[in-house]
Amino acid sequence: MPATRAKKKVNAAPKARSQKWVYLFAGGKAEGNAKMRALLGGKGAGLAEMTNAGLPVPPGFTITTAACNAYFKGGGKLPAGLWDQVERGLATIEKTTKKKLGDPKDPLLVSVRSGAAMSMPGMMDTVLNLGLNDQSRQGLATLTKNERFAWDAYRRFISMFGRIVLDIPAEKFDSGLEKKKGARADTDLTAKELEALVGEFKAIVKRETGRPFPTEPHDQLRLAVEAVFGSWFGQRAKDYRKQFKISDDLGTACSVVTMVFGNMGDDSGTGVAFTRDPNTGEKTLYGEYLTNAQGEDVVAGIRTPLKIDQLKRDMPKAYAQFEKIAQRLEKHYRDAQDLEFTIERGKLYMLQTRSAKRTARAAMKIATDMVREKLITKDEAIQRVDPLQVEQLLVPGFDPAAVERARKEGRFLAKGLNASPGAATGRAVFDADRAVALKGQKQLVVLVRPETSPDDFHGMIAATGILTARGGSTSHAAVVARGLGLPCVAGVAALEIDLAKREMRVGGALIKEGDAISIDGTTGEVFAGELTTNPPSYEKETQLIELLSWADKRRRLGVWVNADTPGECIEARKLGAEGVGLARTEHMFRQAERLPYVQDMIMADSEAGRKIALAKLLPFQQGDFREMYKAMDGLPVVIRLIDPPLHEFLREFADVDIDIAVAEATGRDGPEIEQKRKVWRRLEQIHEDNPMLGLRGCRLLLVYPEILEMQIRAILGAAADSAEVGVSAKPEIMMPLVGTMGELDRLRDQVMSVAAAVEKERGRKVPFKFGTMIEIPRACIIADEIATKTEFFSFGTNDLTQTVLGISRDDAQKSFLTKYVEQRIIPDDPFQVIDRGGVGEMMKMGVDRGRKTKPDLKIGICGEHAGEPSSVAFCHEIGLTYVSPSTYRVPVARLAAAQAALAMKERDR
Ligand code: ADP
Ligand code: MG
Ligand code: MG
Repeated sequence: MPATRAKKKVNAAPKARSQKWVYLFAGGKAEGNAKMRALLGGKGAGLAEMTNAGLPVPPGFTITTAACNAYFKGGGKLPAGLWDQVERGLATIEKTTKKKLGDPKDPLLVSVRSGAAMSMPGMMDTVLNLGLNDQSRQGLATLTKNERFAWDAYRRFISMFGRIVLDIPAEKFDSGLEKKKGARADTDLTAKELEALVGEFKAIVKRETGRPFPTEPHDQLRLAVEAVFGSWFGQRAKDYRKQFKISDDLGTACSVVTMVFGNMGDDSGTGVAFTRDPNTGEKTLYGEYLTNAQGEDVVAGIRTPLKIDQLKRDMPKAYAQFEKIAQRLEKHYRDAQDLEFTIERGKLYMLQTRSAKRTARAAMKIATDMVREKLITKDEAIQRVDPLQVEQLLVPGFDPAAVERARKEGRFLAKGLNASPGAATGRAVFDADRAVALKGQKQLVVLVRPETSPDDFHGMIAATGILTARGGSTSHAAVVARGLGLPCVAGVAALEIDLAKREMRVGGALIKEGDAISIDGTTGEVFAGELTTNPPSYEKETQLIELLSWADKRRRLGVWVNADTPGECIEARKLGAEGVGLARTEHMFRQAERLPYVQDMIMADSEAGRKIALAKLLPFQQGDFREMYKAMDGLPVVIRLIDPPLHEFLREFADVDIDIAVAEATGRDGPEIEQKRKVWRRLEQIHEDNPMLGLRGCRLLLVYPEILEMQIRAILGAAADSAEVGVSAKPEIMMPLVGTMGELDRLRDQVMSVAAAVEKERGRKVPFKFGTMIEIPRACIIADEIATKTEFFSFGTNDLTQTVLGISRDDAQKSFLTKYVEQRIIPDDPFQVIDRGGVGEMMKMGVDRGRKTKPDLKIGICGEHAGEPSSVAFCHEIGLTYVSPSTYRVPVARLAAAQAALAMKERDR
């Protein structure tokens, strides 16, 4: 029946067009829920979930992130059907609240709030008190019998709307307010003064935009929604997303929420609280509030807020209710929450709940405590902690002796709030742009501000630490610093900052821009000058140790370490390393007392000459290996033979040509200069235009087999020495830069013959393994053949990335790679995060082909990537045996490896 079908189609079409853009939450019921973060944003999803849970949430609705994306796609036009749905949503709120937007008798006021799927605190915009004009203000005053409150709400609205929607610089309004209030707090302004302020603000709007302040509430709403959408592509939001690698196409949702008023007098207030201390993780309600204030006042640091305990005394009933709700929300979400609330004349309203941002220390404590409280499982605890936070936890602190000295020298300046832990030393800088500029000159800077605002974000990420004069531990500075893992001391009232002069006075001292200061975000102390820092102490991190012990049971990847000295081995073993995945022998060559012999070796013009120098080096290397075996007793130690091009050991001679030229010009020739000429000739001989692709790695060993012989003698000799004193040495000899079987066969023969000689001389068997780096694309391709002659592979992903992408690691960063990442030509720096599509595919080929020959072939990775969480996950996915990161990344890799295993298990389910 074609006719009916056609008719059906006609009916279906408008339905498809009228996508659902608006989700209501009103009258105890919501259309959305906590799972709809992507569509409703974190804020919208939280409001919906809290409404459904029966909590006191003012009614409202959320416009979806899809609407925001459609708005941008349509070139800044709201999509079809959206506004109808908004109007209908509004009508529902009006019915629920029995108020009307713009009504001169009983006006409904709303907030228009941004909120993306990922929390981006303070990075986008929110407008409060929307719906006010001269008539509705009058209605509000009459209804509340509070003239002052109505004027206060009105002046706030005009300045907020002016700033956010009409793009008028905030200072224009701020200076008006400052002038009015002088030294008083804003709560001391009288109704008359506020009224005058409203007049001034209106005039500012007229002057700045050429038009009067928009008085039609529905127009106000439409403009505000568009401004909230627009703030998704605001500079701060873009900067933030770049920093945290959040995609540009998620979009922000926009929640329209009935206003409740914390500024209605002393029985009203507003606050922010965490269900656990976001610094320490301790299980206690932690937060701040202000009486007679509106939400933005707490975060903006306008007045210094009171501790949440004070609320217990001031408004015990509201406090008790809030405490209960806080506990309920934490249980419900099974995670620590960050809550916004407002009390209107004694009645509590919940305005936001989200998972709390926390310091690394708090993250460990909360995760492990919640397991003990049986709120979450161990697997969940493992997944709750960001592996990079593990690294933050192992941040250096100031050396106590240096702190003591600084105190004695009178360099202690002041103490503020310990807002984000860690120690930072740097040059004081008083504005964000200067911080960026100095960072560009490779200076360490501490950003000092009266308070920070989202506009300072670019300066904050350029700084090593943040210091503010105002604001509490939920202030912008504190929250952002914790998110970034930056040390922060906030609310140091003693700072007298003069932004115009770029200096500050504190405790009698004058600090000018560029002067060194030191801040301790763990204690809240501020010092003049630089302080030395101490390495972190893993042993003291009991919660981390516990979490990692759980992680160890979940992971399949081994975690080894790249270590070049016995000291590093000892440290790494404490951190949980299960072997040395890479010992770089050339690092031992660079030590002062050895370098001359290395240089002799390079300068020698015959094999005999080289052998003499090498014989001097042998005892050094053998001694090093002995010490490393001892440190790693019973665990494997992979030793890579010499890798870099020889000229790297001759860097100090780079200027001999100048010396020679000077000597010749001044006629001061002699035996010393003759020696220099010899060096110069040799340098010329070994000069290469592309040393990274030149005579290095196994190529060097094949050209100078006597180097290989010395190194094998040292490795196996040390193993024999160890056996004699009861140390279990497990050397694994690794060849760098192998690309052909011709190379590998010859190297192997030589190693075996030296080994046979050593065994004969020592009269004992010296077990070892023989393997190779896989760091040349050709090695991946012939991995099946390579596996016939080797017992292990180790991916050298630094060189593999250079050679697969054809990008020089040492040069590319400064010339174009950073730009590539900034402009998102590539998603990540391939030298930090494994390029899965290219290098990753090569690795897979290497693994597959290698294991085709030897199914149980041991395969590791010793590139920089071995300590980067997403790359560790990749290594897990392609079935590597172990990862070998640098020392302080060992705990990071242990956690990342467990998370990778758990994630894969979930996917397979
Ligand atoms: P942000 O994401 O920057 O926290 P919000 O949308 O949460 O922005 O709002 C800013 C401030 O205004 C918060 O303190 C919030 O609690 C407060 N606020 C938002 N909506 C309302 C409302 N309907 N009534 C009272 N205060 C509100
Ligand atoms: Mg908020
Ligand atoms: Mg290499």
